[in-house]
This record gives sequence, C-alpha cells and structure tokens, in this order.
Amino acid sequence: MIRHFSIKELVPKHIYEQWGDMSWWFLDFRAIKTLEWLRDELGSCTVNNWAWGGSYDQSGLRTYQFYQQNSLTPKYIAKELVAESFSQHKYGRAFDCKFTNHKAEDVREFIKTNWNIYGYEWPITIEEDTNWVHFDTRNRPYHKVYTFKQ
Ligand SMILES: [Zn+2]
Repeated sequence: MIRHFSIKELVPKHIYEQWGDMSWWFLDFRAIKTLEWLRDELGSCTVNNWAWGGSYDQSGLRTYQFYQQNSLTPKYIAKELVAESFSQHKYGRAFDCKFTNHKAEDVREFIKTNWNIYGYEWPITIEEDTNWVHFDTRNRPYHKVYTFKQ
C-alpha cells in the first residue's frame, strides 16, 4: 500500500524504537494516501531523515520531544506543552514535506490547482508562507483546499 515511504520517515526515532512497525497505528490513513499522491505527482520528498543521520525527526507524528528540541525545557514541561497542543501533527494527520525538485510555493500552487480534480475526496489543509509544505487532513466540511498562516 505504501510505496514510497518507510515508517522511519514518518515518526520520531524514539517512537520507532519503542513501537517498530506498529508505529503505523499512529498515522491517519488519509494523510498517508495524500503524501503518496504528492510523491507520485511531484517526485522525491523528505519528511523525517533521522534514520540517515539527518535532523528532521518531528516532521510527521509529533511528540513531546518537539518541545524539548526547541528549548531547554525540562521533560515534564515539554509533556505538558504537548498535552495542551492541538497540532494536527500530534494526531498523525500532518506532514511537513521538503521536496527535492520543487519550491514549497510551487507545490502549494499545484495542490490548489489540482486537488479538487485529481486528488482524493477528503479536504486538505495547507500552511502558507513556509519553506516546507505542511499539509494535513483535519476534519473539514467541504472537499476543497483550505489554507492557514501561523
Ligand atoms: Zn506542519
């Protein structure tokens, strides 16, 4: 079913080390299908790359470690922060994609132009004004492309 990505690319290292292939349980099926669609249409893209020594570890499923990596926050505080977070990443419904051959802005244009014609039947939400392509499959009322800015 998943042709282009291994689970190591989609969850943090500490999750993979604890759960192995069961880590698929934590990801939304629609988000995975959407990621595969983008990969089929636009070519190579990186979500996480920790398995190859890279620094991306929290670009798919997001855990309390995200809040530790960005500060000197103690672990218990980081866990409180993630408990209060409603990021779509926390629910396994979001990926931050770095495409090898396309600028993020061009990918967003591609999604806006093509999703309702060639994409899946569910809504997609994308973030504007970032150097990466955040998309998620949060619940929304209409089959269309929604955008937001931080
Ligand atoms: Zn994101």
